[in-house]
Amino acid sequence: MKARLDPQIARLFELFIGAGHELYLVGGAVRDYQRGAPIEELPDLDFATSALPAESTRLLRRAGFPVFMVGSRFGTVGTFLEEVPRRRQIQITTYRGEVYVNGSRKPRVTFGKDLLEDLARRDFSINAMAMAADGHLIDPYGGDRDLAQGVLRTVGEPRVIFREDPLRTLRAARFIATLGMKPEPELTEVVREVAGEILTVSRERWLLEMNKILLAEAADDGLIFLVETGLLVHLWPAGQAMVEFRADQGRYHHKALWPHTLGVLSQAPRSLPVRWAALLHDAGKVTTRSVDPAGEVHFFGHETVSAAIVDEAARRFRFDRALHQRVRTLVLLHQRPALYDGGWTDGAVRRLIRDAGEALPDLLDLSRADVTSHRPGIREGVLARLADLQARAAGLIEKDGQAPLLPKGIGQAIMAHLGIEAGPRVGELRGRLEQAVLDGEVPRNGSPREYLGYLDRVLV
Ligand code: ATP
Ligand code: MG
Repeated sequence: MKARLDPQIARLFELFIGAGHELYLVGGAVRDYQRGAPIEELPDLDFATSALPAESTRLLRRAGFPVFMVGSRFGTVGTFLEEVPRRRQIQITTYRGEVYVNGSRKPRVTFGKDLLEDLARRDFSINAMAMAADGHLIDPYGGDRDLAQGVLRTVGEPRVIFREDPLRTLRAARFIATLGMKPEPELTEVVREVAGEILTVSRERWLLEMNKILLAEAADDGLIFLVETGLLVHLWPAGQAMVEFRADQGRYHHKALWPHTLGVLSQAPRSLPVRWAALLHDAGKVTTRSVDPAGEVHFFGHETVSAAIVDEAARRFRFDRALHQRVRTLVLLHQRPALYDGGWTDGAVRRLIRDAGEALPDLLDLSRADVTSHRPGIREGVLARLADLQARAAGLIEKDGQAPLLPKGIGQAIMAHLGIEAGPRVGELRGRLEQAVLDGEVPRNGSPREYLGYLDRVLV
């Protein structure tokens, strides 16, 4: 199949080929193009070239392309094809012939002599294809056939490939999740053998792959691969504990913990915090199960334990602060919307709005995904209640506006009015007033006088 390249890419090819160099589109872009994605829509494109980095830089600058160095990747020069907002990022890398030193985090890298040598050091057949300026495909490892048949196969001996760079074991899980690939049996065997070596790979690289796995269409299949190969034990022991927790879940939860978790994950919208929260929300059940005298199973406080497991996962996988806080909020509050029964007061709905803050839409998404029961009526009933809660919350947010609950300076006013010093008592009274606002007993963001009057009435 021959591709018609868009004008910007054709220009890039002309630039390099006109100067006597080779240039090929390689890697993920070729793979995604062969799967039917239009090249214009791919967000980032990788090229391989015979030109040395200094020469690529010179050529690009002369033609007016912005040039930046891509620090993390040896021999790579970056540019943008278009102006913002629709700019596609381009990385142009000199052919590589890579020599990894086993067990070392830093590969020793050399420049390669030609395209075939460059393709030979890639991980999977589907990632080892190149496309020439005239659109023809260079596919020495049968990547196009594997793509069509959905087979994940390494370039060469799996044992060598995975030992050279153990991150590739996680990348395998990623392509299973994102592309629905089935690993060759031998590939799975070898990943099982080398699984522990993932511990030699940096956590930052773990996170990038984990995020891609969790955001994928078939995130559950990616995780199943992590479990089957033993990767999960090393990546995340608390996750493995969930897999192994098979105790009876009581009459309200007919699924075991891990199948339920995978179900929630699959149903969750493809947003990073929601997907991580789906994975983590019930992790605390492993250590909180109890059975009461009537034989009922409970998991009291499991959301608090799950939140502590979020903290641990955040450290382990190097979450940034924003992701950590959002996932933590979602996990801590994940039970709340499900308790909604239509009988809540406006005050109760407002409390949820206040506690969830900006996470409220994600929280409702998580709650919807958390309904994995297939019993007739149950699912529809819960979803209808959640829709009602969402509508009421939206109504109250609209009505209340963005104004703070209490006016500025209310703390000072309380101290002056009651003749007390700054301290916990002031915070406590502020809290009372906030509750009164949420319950609609006093107006929001009113004058200090109204609040002091309220305190006088209730503190007698
Ligand atoms: P994405 O769609 O996420 O960009 P990708 O396959 O392009 O997927 P990149 O990390 O951008 O992934 O890598 C580009 C190409 O470089 C890959 O397609 C693959 O050929 C090669 N590659 C990347 N990482 C490795 C690795 N760890 N080992 C071997 N080859 C790799
Ligand atoms: Mg890429």
